Amino acid sequence: MVLCLGMCHKIPSHLFQKCGTKNRTRFLDITTLSRTLGGSVCDSLIGMHAFYSCDTVSAFAGRGKMTTLKQVKMDKTYQDAFHELGRSWEVSPELFEKLQEITCHMYLPSTHTTEVNKLRYELFCARRGEVESSQLPPCEDCLFMHALRATTRLRSGEVWQSQPFVANPTDCGWMTDEDGKLAVNWMRGSPAPDAVMQLLSCKCVRSCELPKCTCLSNGLKCTDMCRLQTCQNKAIEEEPVAQQSDSESDVDDIEED
Ligand SMILES: [Zn+2]
Ligand SMILES: [Zn+2]
Repeated sequence: MVLCLGMCHKIPSHLFQKCGTKNRTRFLDITTLSRTLGGSVCDSLIGMHAFYSCDTVSAFAGRGKMTTLKQVKMDKTYQDAFHELGRSWEVSPELFEKLQEITCHMYLPSTHTTEVNKLRYELFCARRGEVESSQLPPCEDCLFMHALRATTRLRSGEVWQSQPFVANPTDCGWMTDEDGKLAVNWMRGSPAPDAVMQLLSCKCVRSCELPKCTCLSNGLKCTDMCRLQTCQNKAIEEEPVAQQSDSESDVDDIEED
């Protein structure tokens, strides 16, 4: 339906969509519906769909699209952002600014904060750390990767559903996993500063195994802080000389961020 509404102005005839079940068929009058919603809203619907709810892009856990749809109908910022999304392969800083603002509103409608990282911090503090990660907006890096995936979705195939990918997916928020399969590349940076990562630990006693080991289940190597010091999941000691400059520049990167 979203695709029909977004595309119907290109089709020079009255458009209906057949839906429902075998016994209860309904015909939606797409053309009339699109006139009611208006061109600007219809134009932004496909972008909104790719960003929020389509099956081939990551989504925001527990966030419904209905609130956003209401917002899209009322707010020109939303319409502009979703209209712009996918117009080029890049997610410009200006567009990303709008997407950040929209995402902040999705997690806290009354907020004046327009940066996701800031809002994460504010929500975390407001609830004194008693907060599930799904209650926080994604961090800036994750959101950017998500926006790239939405962009790829929007630009792959003229009418959306042809080729799943035309660009190299690994440039667009995806990566190939150990088996060579496509997997979501959630973020480019580290989930926390190195100093914090080194303090994470599991409490496994006999062996580190899935699903019990919190290190393994989070895709992390065991650290010196883990209870069991003989498990297979420990990071292999790196050559101190060869790795020195690398780890130093990592620290610089984090400080700059
Ligand atoms: Zn463990
Ligand atoms: Zn561990």
